[in-house]
Amino acid sequence: MILDMSFAEMEEYVLSLGEPKFRAKQLFEAAYLFKDLEKISNLPQNFKEKVKKDYLFYEIVAHLRSKDETEKVAIKFADGSIVESVLLKYKYGYTVCVSTQVGCRMGCKFCASTLNGLKRNLSAGEILAQVLFFNSSLGATLKQRKITNIVLMGCGEPLDNYENVTKFLRLVSAPEGINISQRNISLSTCGIVPNIYKLADDGFSVTLTISLHAPNDELRKTIMPIANAYKIEEILKACDYYFEKTGRRICFEYSLIDGVNDGQEQIKELATILKGKTCHVNLIPLNSVKEKKLIGTNRKKAYKIAGDLEKLGISATVRRTMGEDIEGACGQLRNRVGGAK
Ligand code: SAH
Repeated sequence: MILDMSFAEMEEYVLSLGEPKFRAKQLFEAAYLFKDLEKISNLPQNFKEKVKKDYLFYEIVAHLRSKDETEKVAIKFADGSIVESVLLKYKYGYTVCVSTQVGCRMGCKFCASTLNGLKRNLSAGEILAQVLFFNSSLGATLKQRKITNIVLMGCGEPLDNYENVTKFLRLVSAPEGINISQRNISLSTCGIVPNIYKLADDGFSVTLTISLHAPNDELRKTIMPIANAYKIEEILKACDYYFEKTGRRICFEYSLIDGVNDGQEQIKELATILKGKTCHVNLIPLNSVKEKKLIGTNRKKAYKIAGDLEKLGISATVRRTMGEDIEGACGQLRNRVGGAK
């Protein structure tokens, strides 16, 4: 599809159709603004016919708005696969939370995205489409974009779809396109160690966010199957490498699960393993997923834990929950239309 192409690739594509090169710019702009092909007035009909099959094929099957202004869309792609994406409004701008796979095969015990396993990887253009949809729905133009930040924290494991995700990172930060700096992009991973090294070696500089959720391997294995493949120690070593290469502070996510990982000893252990690292801990009281029995730590206790970590020398904050009433909060996205309550 068109959105999988960089600007240079689009020029080649247009030439391969026997069309003049300048059509690439028109096509690129139209696709990036999510325009309906039929309604583009500066393109001749025969050109439209030629590109039709490669143009955007998606359908917005739901668009929900939360009380807190968070928005969630379910996008259906050509093969009928559905993914959800979320728009979060902050003081400094808009963040889009994108999905990277249809479903997920990581099997974390607390997450809705993994309930039906992995259906398929999303292509780079399908990930980009999620950003562009929200950008244009906010009335942006290519020169004046509205989206300021991106988090790869929707459905799927980004480092389990390495090629497409890194292509997406190149596309979304390209100056000819929407031009979002890698500094404003966070990639969240459950810790696929070899691909953390690869990301650093391939020259990316996005903010790396690790879903840690436990201070030791024993506990981590009970909630995250990936812990059987990689030890926390190996993940932390890879993070040190990423930090050395990029200078970017690492963020650790820690979903607080009542009675599972929120005990005093566990928090102390967490501070011990992170001691001396340039990092930040983001505490997320677990959001409810109706098929799962685990319960989130209450917010009061979460703030206390953040304070305790700070006292132990670890920078920590409690993440604001946004969009929970439309099942748009962390861990609630899935590959069908999750409903509004
Ligand atoms: N696969 C990536 C991106 C997933 S989602 C990863 O594992 O990082 C982003 C964050 O939400 C992850 O830290 C994930 O572990 C967390 N999460 C999943 N389910 C959750 C839930 N029910 N409540 C709160 N956070 C959750």
